[in-house]
Amino acid sequence: MGATKHNWTKDEILEIYNKPLMELLYQAATVHREQHDPNTVQVSTLLSIKTGGCSEDCGYCPQAARYHTNIEGNDLMSVQQVKAQALRAKDSGSSRVCMGAAWRNVKDGEEFDQVLEMVRTINKLDMEVCCTLGMLTENQAKRLAEAGLYAYNHNLDSSEEYYKEVISTRGFEDRLQTIDNVRKTNVTVCSGGIIGMGEKVEDRAGMLVALSTLNPQPESVPINALVAVEGTPLEDQEPVSIWEMVRMVATTRIVMPETQVRLSAGRTQMTQEGQAMCFFAGANSIFAGDKLLTTPNPDVNEDMKMFDLLGLNSQKPFTKKVQPQTVEATDSQYQDLGEKPKWSRPGHTIERNEAAKEKAKADK
Ligand code: SF4
Repeated sequence: MGATKHNWTKDEILEIYNKPLMELLYQAATVHREQHDPNTVQVSTLLSIKTGGCSEDCGYCPQAARYHTNIEGNDLMSVQQVKAQALRAKDSGSSRVCMGAAWRNVKDGEEFDQVLEMVRTINKLDMEVCCTLGMLTENQAKRLAEAGLYAYNHNLDSSEEYYKEVISTRGFEDRLQTIDNVRKTNVTVCSGGIIGMGEKVEDRAGMLVALSTLNPQPESVPINALVAVEGTPLEDQEPVSIWEMVRMVATTRIVMPETQVRLSAGRTQMTQEGQAMCFFAGANSIFAGDKLLTTPNPDVNEDMKMFDLLGLNSQKPFTKKVQPQTVEATDSQYQDLGEKPKWSRPGHTIERNEAAKEKAKADK
């Protein structure tokens, strides 16, 4: 078992990605077996605690208010609603609940306090708790850690270069800053991206350079295949082939041996054989539940049947790291600072984002 390498270059990663497939699979499966039990897969449930109405212009996202999509928005869920859903997820075999809110960034105040209470509640159910709430300050990260957060998700989405072709309202540097803020706590980092947005293979490698050169590397890396939703700027993108997905998973496994590689959006477009190949190539985490925030996902019973068929087991919670302690709000060391951080807004023009926005206006 060699030491984890933190200085991967784009050329080295491209060389791995482009290897003959059998060679790539063999290498990835070997690395996987050195670091992980190949028959264990971590299962998370993703819960959209606040859906839609987002101010950002992410070209892949049906939750951006400026595009015309058919998703039903909802305000922040109550703590009781979240608890009920978490219990259901636990019953169906999930070890982690990931709560997503369609926010640009976290704002101190009542809603964030409510999310902190959700974190406390789920941690007390002995499940790993993850949040994805947008950009985050150091104090906010510390408050989440104190509530018992296990992981924070903040995807880089793509390479720094291609990110600019997809999003104009938030900057790549701020993504890295948020990850850095999470690293100032004991909360683990979940960060990955999406393939199939029209990027080149070089961009996929560029994203893996950005992730693998973080030290430490993210504990979890979701690899999503774009689900092209009507009304979004990327609605006409062709689905990625299973071979691209397998290559991406295998390459991620090789360059980040210790991380949990998560097969995320796009599983409904994959056969069981395709998913099995991804598990062989090193994927060892999935999202369960019939929805991934707003896009479809395989039914949990189908997933459990697939696990039976392939002889896979669900990973128990807190296998990789001990359960964090929960500090009650009344005993908190950290205050609501009423922070209003100025996260960047690059504001350049992305033609297809503008076109989708204009179309949505015309449709109203
Ligand atoms: S990806 Fe997140 S930040 Fe971007 S539009 Fe969707 S909800 Fe908003």
